[in-house]
Amino acid sequence: MKTRRLATMLFAILLSAVCAGLIISAAVPARAGGDSNWGFSLTNLDRTCKPCEDFYEFAMGGWMKANPIPAEYSTWGTFAELRDKNLTAMRTILENAGDSHPAAGSNDQKIGDFYAACMDTSAIEAAGAKPMASDLAAIDALQDRKGLEAEIARLHRETNNVAFSFGAIPDFKNSSQMIGLAHQGGLGLPDRDYYLRDDEHSKELREDYIQHVGKMFALAGDAPDKAAAEAKTVMALETSLAKASRTRVELRDPEKNYNKMSLAQLKELTPDWSWENYLHAIGAADVSEINVGQPDFFKEVDHQLAATPLADWKIYLRWHVIHQAAPALSDAFVQENFNFYGKQLSGAKELQPRWKRCVQSTNQEIGEALGEVYVRKYFPPEAKARAKEMVNNLIAALRSDIPTLSWMGPETQKQALAKLQAFTVKIGYPDKWRDYSKLSIGRASYFENVRRAGEFEEARDLAKIGKPVDRSEWGMTPPTVNAYNNSTFNEIVFPAGILQPPFYDPRADDAVNYGGIGAVIGHEISHGFDDQGSKFDGRGNLNNWWTDEDRKNFNERGDCIMQQFNGYEVEPGLHQNGKLVLGESIGDLGGLAIAYAAYEKSIEGKRPPEIDGFSPEQRFFLGWAQVWGANQRAEAARLQANTDPHPLARFRGNGPLSNMEAFAKAFGCKKGDAMVREQACKIW
Ligand SMILES: [Zn+2]
Repeated sequence: MKTRRLATMLFAILLSAVCAGLIISAAVPARAGGDSNWGFSLTNLDRTCKPCEDFYEFAMGGWMKANPIPAEYSTWGTFAELRDKNLTAMRTILENAGDSHPAAGSNDQKIGDFYAACMDTSAIEAAGAKPMASDLAAIDALQDRKGLEAEIARLHRETNNVAFSFGAIPDFKNSSQMIGLAHQGGLGLPDRDYYLRDDEHSKELREDYIQHVGKMFALAGDAPDKAAAEAKTVMALETSLAKASRTRVELRDPEKNYNKMSLAQLKELTPDWSWENYLHAIGAADVSEINVGQPDFFKEVDHQLAATPLADWKIYLRWHVIHQAAPALSDAFVQENFNFYGKQLSGAKELQPRWKRCVQSTNQEIGEALGEVYVRKYFPPEAKARAKEMVNNLIAALRSDIPTLSWMGPETQKQALAKLQAFTVKIGYPDKWRDYSKLSIGRASYFENVRRAGEFEEARDLAKIGKPVDRSEWGMTPPTVNAYNNSTFNEIVFPAGILQPPFYDPRADDAVNYGGIGAVIGHEISHGFDDQGSKFDGRGNLNNWWTDEDRKNFNERGDCIMQQFNGYEVEPGLHQNGKLVLGESIGDLGGLAIAYAAYEKSIEGKRPPEIDGFSPEQRFFLGWAQVWGANQRAEAARLQANTDPHPLARFRGNGPLSNMEAFAKAFGCKKGDAMVREQACKIW
């Protein structure tokens, strides 16, 4: 069972991470440097490729040829490799916790038992479909619309976001207060477009989805004919929700998705849906206003609650109960779930070994309990201090750059510097760990553990509504190989998981570190000033601090990057969507520029010698390419291009470099070379 918390979805709106696939991670011994000890192995190179023609291939082509995608993955690269190593590290922690007879109720007991129950396949097989029986019975018993609405609220408390999503979020325009957010949702396919596109691929995938839904109903015990008919009912209702949903590009715009409404306004928006009853049922009875992210979507939900027969709604709810439960049920459910979401949608060939799925599930459900042990074991205080120093150097580089920008007037510059000054930096792990004392975890049932952990998190989340924002919270667990910028907190966050080789290695050449983790840090800083992040001020409020002229200049610079990425072809007929990936691409170009400036400053007056024939500047760019080295299956590339605001790794590797004079200079690239764009884009 995977819990679908609102946080996952909010991540898409507010937290701009450095890469896709927020799966897992963990610490690892330094990557063997192969034939070098400066943090980049020469075996990564493909010297048959010229750096000025395709730098990414030049830098990482050797690695990509030598590292085909393992059967259980759909993308395999630096991020995935480090995540995979982290899984092994976490597995050791979890097995030890399970074997060490920890005190009942301690975090060690909880993580050990959570993992052990997940690994107990004989208990899971014996339970079959039974764990979801009470949910299915509750749906069967529904008599009327009132009951249906109450059941939607009940399922939401179980973290099953049927029909829509609801959760706590800082008020965009009063960032010290938490508010309830109602957000579009309720779909089984990854995005609205999957229901609406007319190309052959999409049509085929919809047929596959209907087949899959039917098979899942059959596994839950329905006769094949009935199951097939039910799948069509699900498709019809989800399609009507999809039609009323906003696109991923529209969802990136915080202004558009900020619609604070009083109960009276809500009544007007959705006359037949009782928000009072809903808020009461989820334990938020005293809430008097909420943010309705996408008002038209909620009009459609309101309409469908009346227009679609109760019997059809019951089928839809049944599907989402089965769908959410599947990963925690017996093997038949797990396999069929993988067949569609893992194989057909993402292109993986095999299911991951069970232990990997169980480690990830533990990290996802009670990740701060696991993370606390993880950082004790793998993240020494010196690592935190060194990372902090690098972040400070990067911030200093941008601070010196802003006053020199010809396209930004002095008034906006002053505001930008104030925002930069106000950044909060979080490194490694939270200062205050989550308190799991009220969560009970045992060895008897994996399904029940996931259910209780989900309900615990959901209750914790809903309890925040109407309260002051707790700025000490983290949006990623410590072992995560990723980083993020959270606009409403005006913060940049680097979990312990990413602060290790090959992103960062204290023993490696500084140039490689600056091109790796330095550019990642710069990327997160730049998100504070990307097309959407720049709409939030230093206190995290959605508040325009730009003059009209400066905003216009900035937008023109953004348009240049948007055009560049629109030009990248993923496969025939599918390009990157420049508007969707704009924030991330601004982050990459801006981040690299800041990291490069910081590196140049760090070697002022003491320029290091060449290593293995590479100048310090060349090594900086090799460090960047190394981070993005990856092989990807066609299905995964398609899925990412369709749904993810992060461009594909292969475009991130080359895209920003082809705009940078410093890159061309480092490798002697000339006008006309593929790595030198005729119309270079520049932000910082
Ligand atoms: Zn990002």
